[in-house]
Amino acid sequence: MKIISVHEGIVPISSSIRNAWIDFSKMDCSIVAVVSDVMRDGEPVVGYGFNSNGRYSAGEILRRRVIPRLLDAAPDALLDAEGELDPTLAWDFMMSNEKPGGHGERSVAVGVVDMALFDLASKIAEKPLYRWLSDKHGDGQPDDSVFVYAAGGYYAPGKTLADLQDEMRGFLDQGYNVVKMKIGGADLAEDLERIEAVLEVLGGDGQRLAVDVNGKFDLATALEYGAAIEQYNLFWYEEVGDPLDYRLNAVLSESYSGRIATGENLFSLQDARNLVRYAGMRPDRDIIQVDPALSYGLTEYLRIQKMLNDHGWSSRQCIPHGGHQFSLHIAAALKLGGNESYPGEFQPTGGFADGAVVENSRVGLTETPGIGFEGKAAFYEVLRKLH
Ligand SMILES: [Mg+2]
Repeated sequence: MKIISVHEGIVPISSSIRNAWIDFSKMDCSIVAVVSDVMRDGEPVVGYGFNSNGRYSAGEILRRRVIPRLLDAAPDALLDAEGELDPTLAWDFMMSNEKPGGHGERSVAVGVVDMALFDLASKIAEKPLYRWLSDKHGDGQPDDSVFVYAAGGYYAPGKTLADLQDEMRGFLDQGYNVVKMKIGGADLAEDLERIEAVLEVLGGDGQRLAVDVNGKFDLATALEYGAAIEQYNLFWYEEVGDPLDYRLNAVLSESYSGRIATGENLFSLQDARNLVRYAGMRPDRDIIQVDPALSYGLTEYLRIQKMLNDHGWSSRQCIPHGGHQFSLHIAAALKLGGNESYPGEFQPTGGFADGAVVENSRVGLTETPGIGFEGKAAFYEVLRKLH
């Protein structure tokens, strides 16, 4: 098995939605195709990757550093003892001459290629990624479906409480039991009105509603909102302060008894370990949302899982950010607690296979080899054009 070429491109995933920090009008995403010399039905087997959502494309880093280094690696250096492609071996090449720390956009670039290599390896093995991954890095007994919740409830120009309720009813109609909404983009009184409007749709059950601050609050506001929403017994209170402000999270966790979720903007083993060490995160209830696509890929995510295990955390306390097919496979194979889902948003890259059905807030996996981008027609068309 040899890599013949790596192709890189950028796709817009813009949207009119807004959270407490950013709007998504200019959001885009890097995509890559890794072409191998393995032939099936007269065509090369190709692995594809993309960088989730919420961080911009990283083309410059891909073109100037990550891809040339991967192509410089001796072909045998990426193969395991059985002569099969082992994507975790690509890390040392892609990260050569990179200093530690400062994990920003570099982790996005490496993550895209890492995803493509895992897609390629499982395609060559003719297995869906979740089965391949469970055999190689799990217990060989993957979950056959994954808990998913619908993330929405964004702010949008002219959006009324009735619109917000309609949006949430739409998620329930699509098979979701748990939904998430943004807070922190309005004042507390307005956000409480918005929360109560959504709870009305959910029969008053706070365990069906998560709220997401996108890192906006300072400590005083985090505590003020926490005290105001504690009464609702919400599913979780997400990314309340700056992702790297572990002290804020630790102080919040002393007064807010409900579940706290965070980690989607932590991109490395070291940052995730600091979260566990210093942010007051409670293994009996809190949720870690590191997105494998944004944080150096599955290779680093496997290290994070080991670190969590060493610190007494169950993999079930992990529910990755991103709502994409890659983490759906990872969730099933590594027995995570679930996966995010953004019904209808961040197209063409986001979401699961065409025709994937959510039932009772769970979604099954397809048996398409690899990650299954081929079962997502509009995205596959874009990916194919790369090579
Ligand atoms: Mg979030």
